[in-house]
Amino acid sequence: MSRLVYMNGQFVPEKEAKISIFDSALMFGDMVFEMTRSFNKKQYKLREHLERLMAGVKILRIPLKMTIGQLEEACHETVRRNDPFFSATDEHRLMINVSRGPLGIYAQVFDGKSEPTVVIADFPLKWTVVGMGKLFDTGINAVITSQRAIPASLLDPKIKNRSRIHYQMANIEASQFKGDNNWALLLDPDGFVAEGTGDNFFIVKDSQIITPEGRNILRGITRDTVFELAKKLGLSCVERNIEPYDVYTADEAFMTGTPFCILPVTGLNSVAIGDGRMGQVTQSLLSTWSKEIGVNIIEQIKGFNNEIKESGSGATPYKFK
Ligand code: PMP
Repeated sequence: MSRLVYMNGQFVPEKEAKISIFDSALMFGDMVFEMTRSFNKKQYKLREHLERLMAGVKILRIPLKMTIGQLEEACHETVRRNDPFFSATDEHRLMINVSRGPLGIYAQVFDGKSEPTVVIADFPLKWTVVGMGKLFDTGINAVITSQRAIPASLLDPKIKNRSRIHYQMANIEASQFKGDNNWALLLDPDGFVAEGTGDNFFIVKDSQIITPEGRNILRGITRDTVFELAKKLGLSCVERNIEPYDVYTADEAFMTGTPFCILPVTGLNSVAIGDGRMGQVTQSLLSTWSKEIGVNIIEQIKGFNNEIKESGSGATPYKFK
């Protein structure tokens, strides 16, 4: 018995969940996707993730027959079937992939039918946050890579798509920077800060939270959560062009992303931001959110890290050896 993956209406063992070499996803990176997480095993903002997915499906003209409600139900069913394989403290990370399916010219391989590919996998969140617990103490050193963000005029990053080789190149480049805890920070073609390779970026200056405009970035679901939390805390949160200068001179900075929620950024290119430690605003966002969802975000990730250590090679989702 093993975890099961939803593949076009069927559940197959994880190890056997494969897509065709003729799939447009493989040929063109032509696939939209979402990665979600649970808190206390309940999916967080699943609907919002699926809405972003459906926006991509629409704009990329993927002829998906499933409705958002059907996708949502398939996600819940995937979690139900897999929950017995999860320990009491695990959280469910869903990976939802949708492509156009095998390209029409290969249709005969598929008896003339070529339909969109829909995959929903469910695995323990702890895999994704390997090595991240310590970052709540040390902070991330953001590294501006020579690899830039691809602007919306060339390939719209608002569509969460699998054409991600530029993010991978930035990760590889950042991992070659000296020192530890280096995460890539991408500038857009105008030299403004865009985002990380799997995360959105924020600075705090004079108690105001500032994040890049939603133009050349993926508009993160966690980014939206920060807007909501800031409102609850009575803090101003604005979208504005951010230059590296603004980051160097900020009081604090942080990154956001679904698996880890909020991580402090305490340096830019090895220059300390503020006093080089997690700032007050970052801390209160994390604690307010933790209270709201009934999970201590920092302690949970540290706990997961005690269960799964960084692999011998030192590789993490954001670090390569
Ligand atoms: N930017 C990029 C490029 C990403 O891949 C992600 C993670 N999916 C994010 C930002 C953060 O988005 P979210 O908060 O929805 O996880």
